[in-house]
Amino acid sequence: MERTDNDYLLLTPGPLSTSPTVRLAMDRDWCTWDDDYNHGVVTPIRRRLVQLATSACPDEYTCVLMQGSGTFSVEATIGTAVPSDGQLLVLANGAYGNRLAQIAERLNIDHIVHDSGELDPPDLRRLEEELDGRPDLSHVVVVHNETTTGMMNPLDDIAGIVKSRDRVLLVDSMSAFGGVPLDVGELGIDYIISSANKCIQGVPGFGFIIARRSLLEQTRGQARSLSLDLYDQWRVMEDGQGKWRYTSPTHTVRAFYQALQELDEEGGVEARHARYAENQRRLVEGMERLGFQCVLPKAYHSPIITSFLNPDHPDYEFRRFYDLLKQQGFVIYPGKVTGVDSFRIGTIGHVFPDDIDRLVDAVERSMYWT
Ligand SMILES: *Cc1c(COP(=O)(O)O)cnc(C)c1O
Repeated sequence: MERTDNDYLLLTPGPLSTSPTVRLAMDRDWCTWDDDYNHGVVTPIRRRLVQLATSACPDEYTCVLMQGSGTFSVEATIGTAVPSDGQLLVLANGAYGNRLAQIAERLNIDHIVHDSGELDPPDLRRLEEELDGRPDLSHVVVVHNETTTGMMNPLDDIAGIVKSRDRVLLVDSMSAFGGVPLDVGELGIDYIISSANKCIQGVPGFGFIIARRSLLEQTRGQARSLSLDLYDQWRVMEDGQGKWRYTSPTHTVRAFYQALQELDEEGGVEARHARYAENQRRLVEGMERLGFQCVLPKAYHSPIITSFLNPDHPDYEFRRFYDLLKQQGFVIYPGKVTGVDSFRIGTIGHVFPDDIDRLVDAVERSMYWT
């Protein structure tokens, strides 16, 4: 396909660049009532997502698909999992962590927030002390990869602390699931949330939750919303063998099925992680060679997205830099870190190390301020 003016590689953390075959998979209509769709597409997706989440104990987990963008799935999970007498501890170190707190606030869920600031990981000592000192805290929620900065939070340590104290752990792994190896069963995670248009490389339209079955079963009637009732959504999918409650985003779901096959063809999560990590390594190496500086220390980096400081030069303007890159077929992302003048480049999606090399060349050609 020839490149047109609006045809570019998305170096953003979702929606992201998808393969032509994933997009082609949407080119037919589906009946949501028929077995072709429910047994042939939805059920295998749910099964596959559980397998991707855990090989240690797949039988203990189940999967729910939910219409909407990723935030809808996060809101459905928090709003359903925490009972009216529950208390939620939110670990926040960026915009997505803050959004978890905003959801709890809006749903009137009793909660406290540990905000460690956008440039630092969650404070593990404080987490231990809080859980030890407040037996009423029943649930903990944290972002896996904080897409604001690109910081990979120490999920293993957090899970160890939360599970050894027997609390329910919810994880927003939106921008990491499928691109970063993990086993929810081994870590003891109770609910993990992601969406179609991140590391699985599908198109936008729905999110998914992998939940500990024995806990989800106890959440009947707890949801604070009708359409975002995770329990009811699950019940209908279980009983109807792949049927969605309310209209299902059929074309998006079929594209996702294709995307899961392509994940397998690539070699699974490990192989995808290796590609993303190589993308990100080349990106940082190339950008540093050109004089750009990373916002975070390298120990905190993820293969998902990287924040760079905007050059400190009177002639530099992000918008102009962005437009020059876009003309060359690359779309980057504005920064989101408070008080730090930065921009971000994502390295996930149908994007390969050669693309990153071409991007770095395009960046070099776009440095009009030097
Ligand atoms: C993308 C993302 C979300 C969800 O964002 P939507 O715009 O609702 O899809 C939530 N959390 C994190 C960490 C994300 O990267």
